[in-house]
Amino acid sequence: MGFKDPKLFNIAMLGKQGWRLMTNPESLCARVLKGKYFPHGDFLGSRNKKNSSHTWRAILAGRKVLELGLIKRIGDGLSTNIWSDRWIPDAFGCKPICPKEGATATLVCDLLQPDGRAWNEQALEQNLLTIDSNAVRRIPLGRFNEDIWAWSGERHGLYTVRSAYRILAEKEDQERNYGAQQSSHSLKNNDPIWRKLWSVKVPPKVRVFWWRVTHDFIPSKANLHHRHIERLGGCEICGAKEETTFHALTECTFANIYWGKLKELTGIKLPKLCPRTWTIDLLNDAICSEHDRGIILCGMWSLWNSRNDRRHGKAPIEPKKAILWAVDACVELLHATKSHTGESMPRLKEKWERPPVGSLKLNIDGAFDAESFSGATGAVIRNSTGSFVAAAGRRLNSVASVLMAEAEALRDGVKLIPHGVRENVLVETDSSELAGLWRSRREARSEITAILHEVEIVVAGLSSFSVRHARRKYHT
Ligand SMILES: [Zn+2]
Repeated sequence: MGFKDPKLFNIAMLGKQGWRLMTNPESLCARVLKGKYFPHGDFLGSRNKKNSSHTWRAILAGRKVLELGLIKRIGDGLSTNIWSDRWIPDAFGCKPICPKEGATATLVCDLLQPDGRAWNEQALEQNLLTIDSNAVRRIPLGRFNEDIWAWSGERHGLYTVRSAYRILAEKEDQERNYGAQQSSHSLKNNDPIWRKLWSVKVPPKVRVFWWRVTHDFIPSKANLHHRHIERLGGCEICGAKEETTFHALTECTFANIYWGKLKELTGIKLPKLCPRTWTIDLLNDAICSEHDRGIILCGMWSLWNSRNDRRHGKAPIEPKKAILWAVDACVELLHATKSHTGESMPRLKEKWERPPVGSLKLNIDGAFDAESFSGATGAVIRNSTGSFVAAAGRRLNSVASVLMAEAEALRDGVKLIPHGVRENVLVETDSSELAGLWRSRREARSEITAILHEVEIVVAGLSSFSVRHARRKYHT
């Protein structure tokens, strides 16, 4: 993505100064500025003074974007205000909607158990509305570390100018389209397509996505071009003249590879589609069976997301990984809704390999259901002869994402390593994100930081410990 608006780019650049100030409070520059401009408070609460230096005014200008993207990662909860700080990833504005009547808590530590290892259910009930307390339960807790600031625009939790620019640009675009979105909301309830979509067995976010596709509310380049946000409406991947939603999801090079791979892996084929009616045709039983429809719509969703990730400079998702997600999401939902039909499910296998002599292998897996925000962990340890050492599985009643479920599985898994073992331990996970965040755990401030810190303490005595990404296998 280019930086088209120099004003926003400038704010995003200045935001970096403020980020340094907050994350490196011991630096000389930070101490000087604090002494001068906010000796008794913190940076976010400081104000512009009459005789402020140019530098300070610039840093304050960049604070605007920090206010939009910063989030607290909860450790001991001592420095986070429940009502005024941003700290709940799944809540609107990352804050509770409002205190429940009779609420008495002020700091997040008031919502924790005394040992800080779990949420205090009673305190959550007393102080927060149900929607907020549910979101809070999905925040993982670990050891009693200090709360730290993180950046919500990137998975690793560190500030980047690129993601800051994106947040600013999205906000501008949102404000511009606020009116249009309002009217689309009330439209949805009387919409026959929405009613039809309601019965499709896919996660809710996929349903909403497809509803937006059918109404062409998708920010494809061609649409942005028509709205004068993008200068050009062409496809950046294959050079086609117009990147319509139809193009991006069915015709483009990446889409082609994707649908080819899907067919190869699952036997499901994207039906021949007409650019004018394709969004409705996919909801038509005569054109697309119920079973295929779920996987195809989930496929469309993950295809669109991986297209966005590429545009926003994140590591591109491999088509295969995106497909596995799509198949996974549908297999789980279909299982949940009609486990008795005995329909054959797509299956993929990878051979398990024994670890070298003197090593243990820990295989972990996290399951996640987006509809109920629940999940499960599974972990099994085997030795170099392939013999079983230990295994555990646990249901997760509140979990925020697949990544979080995988991280919980890792935490459960390392606790299985028998006491006194000082061998090499190799972990295999099907989450490349988890493997990546483990490697960057020291610098990163991700949502799973608290969990990774705890894992690190547990494995400290081993002669080596590594987390490797391995392809998913289905055991059905
Ligand atoms: Zn293209």
